[in-house]
Parts: sequence; structure tokens; C-alpha cells
Amino acid sequence: MSKMIAVVSKQCVACGTCLKKCPKGAIHIEKGIIAVVDESLCVGCGLCEKACPASVITRKVREEA
Ligand code: SF4
Ligand code: SF4
Repeated sequence: MSKMIAVVSKQCVACGTCLKKCPKGAIHIEKGIIAVVDESLCVGCGLCEKACPASVITRKVREEA
């Protein structure tokens, strides 16, 4: 199974819903305008994707360093 990672699009409205849902605390709001995912913490569970009221989170295959 591929490892996944959450990706936030620029359409994010910084509502903060995804932050509360993330079990890893991998998301923070940057400059009050957009959610940013810490790739080192994200486990690709998809809870943020389901929770986002604006549907601006998707997941992609994690690029291994
Ligand atoms: S996919 Fe899961 S671990 Fe990754 S940012 Fe979303 S809620 Fe957090
Ligand atoms: S829930 Fe969606 S719109 Fe709200 S801060 Fe997270 S990514 Fe942005």
C-alpha cells in the first residue's frame, strides 16, 4: 500500500476544522490564511480530507526522500 499525504489547495479558507480533526497534530494555519500540513507528521489517514467543509484537502502518494 502506498503511503499517502494530505495536500491543501490554495482554496483553503483557514477555518481550522482540519486542525481539530488531525490525530497527529500535523496541520497548522499559516499567516491566518491557509492550512499547512507537516509532511513529517502526516500519516495520510484522510480525516482532514473528510472533515474539510470546503473540500480543499486531497491526498497524494508521499514522495519518499
Ligand atoms: S491525513 Fe490524517 S494525519 Fe495527515 S494531516 Fe490529515 S488528519 Fe492529519
Ligand atoms: S478544514 Fe479545509 S478550509 Fe478549513 S482550514 Fe482545513 S483545509 Fe482549510
